[in-house]
Amino acid sequence: MIKTWQKGWREALWADLKAGSTDWDMIIIGGGITGAGVLREAARLGLKVLLVEQRDFAWGTSSRSSKMVHGGLRYLTQGDIKLTHEAVVERQQMLNEAPGLVEPMKYIYPFRKGSFPGRFAFNLVLRVYDWFAGRRDYRYFDKRAIEYFLPGIRDAGLYGGTQYTDAVTDDARLVMRVLQEARGEGGIAANYIKVEALIREQGRVVGLKLQDVASGECCEVRAKVLVSATGAWADRLRGELIDERRVRPLRGSHLVVPSWRLPVHQALAYQHPDDGRFTFVYPWEGVTVIGTTDLDHRENLDVEAGISAEEVDYILSGANHQFPAAGLTREDILTTWSGVRPIVGKAGVAPLKMKPSDARRDHVVWSDQGLITVTGGKLTTFRAIAMDVLTAAAPLLPLGKIKDTRARVFAPVSKKLTGIHLGSAQQRRLTGFYGSAAQALLDYAHPEDLSYIPGSLNLWAELRWAAAQEAVQHLDDLLLRRTRLGFLLPEGGLQQRERIQQIVQQELGWDEARWGEELQRYQGIWRSKYSVPVAG
Ligand SMILES: Cc1cc2nc3c(=O)[nH]c(=O)nc-3n(C[C@H](O)[C@H](O)[C@H](O)COP(=O)(O)OP(=O)(O)OC[C@H]3O[C@@H](n4cnc5c(N)ncnc54)[C@H](O)[C@@H]3O)c2cc1C
Repeated sequence: MIKTWQKGWREALWADLKAGSTDWDMIIIGGGITGAGVLREAARLGLKVLLVEQRDFAWGTSSRSSKMVHGGLRYLTQGDIKLTHEAVVERQQMLNEAPGLVEPMKYIYPFRKGSFPGRFAFNLVLRVYDWFAGRRDYRYFDKRAIEYFLPGIRDAGLYGGTQYTDAVTDDARLVMRVLQEARGEGGIAANYIKVEALIREQGRVVGLKLQDVASGECCEVRAKVLVSATGAWADRLRGELIDERRVRPLRGSHLVVPSWRLPVHQALAYQHPDDGRFTFVYPWEGVTVIGTTDLDHRENLDVEAGISAEEVDYILSGANHQFPAAGLTREDILTTWSGVRPIVGKAGVAPLKMKPSDARRDHVVWSDQGLITVTGGKLTTFRAIAMDVLTAAAPLLPLGKIKDTRARVFAPVSKKLTGIHLGSAQQRRLTGFYGSAAQALLDYAHPEDLSYIPGSLNLWAELRWAAAQEAVQHLDDLLLRRTRLGFLLPEGGLQQRERIQQIVQQELGWDEARWGEELQRYQGIWRSKYSVPVAG
């Protein structure tokens, strides 16, 4: 069996795929959180399972979400009790199993005279929300406390606010950790392999035409079950089988400002003054994030989504309305990012014609001629989504009835890390992010790597480890998804260019020409999709 991500794995896997040497039970298309979750649960069942991703792991929406692990209080206010309950239960399991990767985050919702929801209605909803989690955690604070928690918050009509608890994560690292757990049980995950087409025989999907993106070479593989976990791209492969479009891609964008410009230590949830949409200002990885928007995304899905100048203005105006004294301007923005959410419409209604009220924000699983398609949903519910996919796959394998035992997704890491003096928060973070590999990461580090990358919470050792051990193909994999320097730092982290170059050249063996190409590629992506667009 091929061990992915070790030296030479890519060539060995491709040779195996070309030769058709493995009798795959399942091939999963898409390396976001949904695909990773399915790989993890399928590997647990002992299936021979392969995941292929056309770009990098988490390249799609799963590195560009708001990163909240939450029940979705908003869905509860809309009466979607089942969706909220499921998400709260999943959130609790993630908090229990992956401390350091999934951390509690306090939220504040301020109340103003004459605005809805007021204290009574909001707290009633929170009572149900907390009840789902088996606790009573929310708490009302008066105006003085709210002003203390959120310095500079708008005074007009403010009389108090309620604090409640959800959680936050690093979405791309969450995907990597789930993949790591899956690989530990024999699952195979390969990035930069694209599914070009489905292979059908006698009206059933029996395999896939794959392309190795680097070489352009193609081959055909077969499996008992094919799962498309392609998120916003879901209509494409399914469209080869049936003439139906169900996915409406909606873009959500975020702004990042230095925390000293908008110092919040807990998240603020508020309604945007222009349209009443729920918006958040929250701390993440040492910066302050503001978002999101919710707009039809009509651009080419194969190009990374980026924020528009209008979205920048909308987000800034909302934040300045809440914090008038902050006076945030475009010059304050460090970085931006945008993700595309697949909203699923009703059968028979063209996606762009559907009313927002007809759109589903939970996930769907369709089974068509041997292809199982899963789309929609949330980061938070990836485990439950995977169980639904396996239930749909069971008759095709056959697996018998799938029983959800709520088995651990993340293996426990109880051993204290050694070799460097780490505070408890750093221990917790490293074991959360890297699971059982955390000690190996430290052991692999050069002595000078055991310091922080300036402006981030990452050690240089993490960058080195990722370059060496985490299937990095391009500089953007390393700076946008294995670490999040491109999401957090001016110039996308390239103020540290020399040290980054030294590490990647040592670990990946890139010569000067390759480094130059990668640098140019990264700068192109960062400037066009992760920085501030020129005002229109
Ligand atoms: C702005 C925004 C904010 C969000 N915030 C939150 C939040 O705070 N909390 C939360 O729980 N959820 C949130 N979500 C939802 C969550 O991010 C998504 O539900 C989740 O990331 C979807 O994961 P996925 O794996 O289904 O899709 P993706 O992450 O998009 O993965 C699909 C993958 O399939 C690959 N692919 C497509 N076609 C092919 C092919 N032919 N061959 C090989 N690979 C292919 C793509 O490259 C892509 O990487 C948010 C979504 C958005 C848009």
